[in-house]
Amino acid sequence: MKVMKFGGTSVGTAERMKSVAQLISCDMDTKIVVLSAMSGTTNTLVEISGYLYKKNPEGANTLINKLEQKYIAHTFELYKTEEWRKATTKFLHEEFDYLRSFTKVHFTSFEEKVILAQGEIISTNMMTNYLKECGENTILLSALDIIRTDKNAEPDFSYISNKSQNIMAENPGYKIYITQGFICRNAYGEIDNLLRGGSDYTACLIGAALKTEEIQIWTDIDGMHNNDPRIVENTVPVRQLHFEEAAELAYFGAKILHPTCIQPAKFAGVPVRLLNTMDPTAPGTLINNSFQPGTIKAVAAKDDIVCIQIESSRMLLAHGFLRKVFEIFEIYKTSIDMICTSEVGVSLTIDNAAHLNEIVEELKKYGTVSVEKEMVIVCVVGDLSANNIGFETMASEAFRQIPVRMISYGGSRHNISFLVQKEDKKRTLQALSDTLFHS
Ligand code: ADP
Ligand code: ASP
Ligand code: MG
Repeated sequence: MKVMKFGGTSVGTAERMKSVAQLISCDMDTKIVVLSAMSGTTNTLVEISGYLYKKNPEGANTLINKLEQKYIAHTFELYKTEEWRKATTKFLHEEFDYLRSFTKVHFTSFEEKVILAQGEIISTNMMTNYLKECGENTILLSALDIIRTDKNAEPDFSYISNKSQNIMAENPGYKIYITQGFICRNAYGEIDNLLRGGSDYTACLIGAALKTEEIQIWTDIDGMHNNDPRIVENTVPVRQLHFEEAAELAYFGAKILHPTCIQPAKFAGVPVRLLNTMDPTAPGTLINNSFQPGTIKAVAAKDDIVCIQIESSRMLLAHGFLRKVFEIFEIYKTSIDMICTSEVGVSLTIDNAAHLNEIVEELKKYGTVSVEKEMVIVCVVGDLSANNIGFETMASEAFRQIPVRMISYGGSRHNISFLVQKEDKKRTLQALSDTLFHS
């Protein structure tokens, strides 16, 4: 049994949905298929929610009606028979009437999450109906019954494990089990989600819970590239990554994977394969437990980083200083990505500025605080262990012309990170590609 996750572009048109249907029904293996919303839909649902927050029902209705027309058009392309087209059209009208009903209620973040969930609910229903029309042995399972988060908004893995095993045992004998990516219930039983791009996380959670032979993430590119293909030219796919390497690339900005989705797969030891729906026979990227010494794999960049520097002559030789600093970040549930210390100060970075003002005010008790916003962490991933002499020098070489604010090396044997200004991001990524992969 394997998990196959298809992202927004992979189910973005009726034609693409048909290709996915072909991919998942071409053999007799049992599959759990996790689907995203059709591309653009979640963004539109976010926009609709924006109008509803602003108490503009007309703006919301205009978008809802436009989206409905788009979906109705898809049914004409997707279904061959009147029976399934009608059944799906009826379902869609009910869905869009439901969305319209939010223009008449008091709108809060709770309603917003319900609205955001509809994209995946629609795509999975459409696909299930299509597979049934094609005569496939398939069932739709609601992710709202399987995926749950705890009070810290983290996946509740023991609940997910029990639920997925029970639901599979209660519904034996199907070839294709379809479910929604991204959506879940939270610790209070409300509809919630695993944040943007969260369908990858759903796939990895289910694959880990059921210890499947593999988790396949099907997307619109032939695997993890050695640099961001949206920014750098001539990037190439990396054929294999260790779980840790993939986790670091995802966390540090490689958009092809949700930032934390690799963790459950790593703990369960289930390999993850990144594959291309547009070119299904391409080998893609395999993520597993094997580590190739002596290679640098890839570069990624994480935007919107805030750098905080605390300077204090009192820090000199004072034990307990760092504990006090860390406690402030803990109180505000803000995690630190990079950290560098000297005898007179400490610089650190955060990617969540929700409590920046409070944090800065508290830090001022211990020193002079300065803040730099719009920074970027550029992360080089591969064999960067200390005994692999020369790779960190090679990475640093790329920065000959670029001002670097912080460097973090030695925290793990897989990565070296550099903090640069936003305006230097593109030339930094290009310089790293030129130095590490083309020289
Ligand atoms: P999906 O909708 O299938 O989840 P995403 O848009 O989330 O797809 O992720 C795929 C996109 O990630 C690619 O089209 C590519 O532009 C982008 N991307 C960013 N960094 C990388 C990288 N290092 N390797 C591959 N793709 C990357
Ligand atoms: N549909 C959601 C999003 O656009 C989840 C996903 O595609 O992974 O973020
Ligand atoms: Mg994605």
